[in-house]
Amino acid sequence: MPFTTRFAPSPTGELHLGHVYAALFAHQAARDSGGRFLVRMEDLDTIRCRTDYATAIMADLQWLGLSPAGPVLYQSTRLATYQAALDQLKHAGLVYPCFCTRGDIARELDGLTAAPHGPDGPLYPGTCRRLSVPEREDRLAAGTIPAWRLDTALARSAVADRQPAFEETGRGPHDERGTIPVDCGLLGDVILGRKDFGASYHLAVVLDDAHQGVTLVTRGEDLFAATHVQWLLQAILALPHPVYRHHRLIRDAEGNRLAKRDHHQTLASRRAAGQTPCDLKLELQLG
Ligand code: GLU
Repeated sequence: MPFTTRFAPSPTGELHLGHVYAALFAHQAARDSGGRFLVRMEDLDTIRCRTDYATAIMADLQWLGLSPAGPVLYQSTRLATYQAALDQLKHAGLVYPCFCTRGDIARELDGLTAAPHGPDGPLYPGTCRRLSVPEREDRLAAGTIPAWRLDTALARSAVADRQPAFEETGRGPHDERGTIPVDCGLLGDVILGRKDFGASYHLAVVLDDAHQGVTLVTRGEDLFAATHVQWLLQAILALPHPVYRHHRLIRDAEGNRLAKRDHHQTLASRRAAGQTPCDLKLELQLG
């Protein structure tokens, strides 16, 4: 089956070998299936993202021989779409305003004997989910800008007739392959509308994957948990569910994930050292 895949970097720095692996992986998955490879710039965070990084990323992709089969999608051009989806969820009562600061959440968690935990640490304890309607209205009327969180349990019951599972075709954290049961509450009541940029990563990604017609999402296994909540979002927003392939992460000699500050692992420094795209594919064990 021809798959449409995508490479979705955030232009907050130069591409490093981990990104190169992700880009080559997505391109190869599209090519092997006779499908299409697309690019999306995840530039929601207007403070950290820079257009010169986006330009450098496109130049790097060209050097790697990875040309997208359609126009590059910039998330910064899609804010009205994200807002419309968030409004739809507000009307359906599936999101609630959250006025907590990080400090409030830390204090609340400290006071709990059994704080809810997810794969990445403690989950939001649900403080603002328990506010009454008048309490919410008072705070909104006072002009406090909230974040908007998914009411995960309500969202799950809104799609109770659906079997929660996604299709994994590749190497997941435990080498999963086949149908993976979705744990809708794995990440708790995630933020869908950020205080600062309006939308959040989870909301933007599901809307954009649907908009770009992505049918196979290839990405690092660090995002395996995100796929669970994104399944739920796709279900409540009546979006198609892509197939997933979570790939390994590229690590340095000490086994740490690469960071944008590791200059010797950037593509630019490898290019400057005379390496070719072929050398990199060999090093990354991609054909
Ligand atoms: N922008 C994300 C990253 O750079 C990828 C998001 C995704 O693949 O869903 O890690």
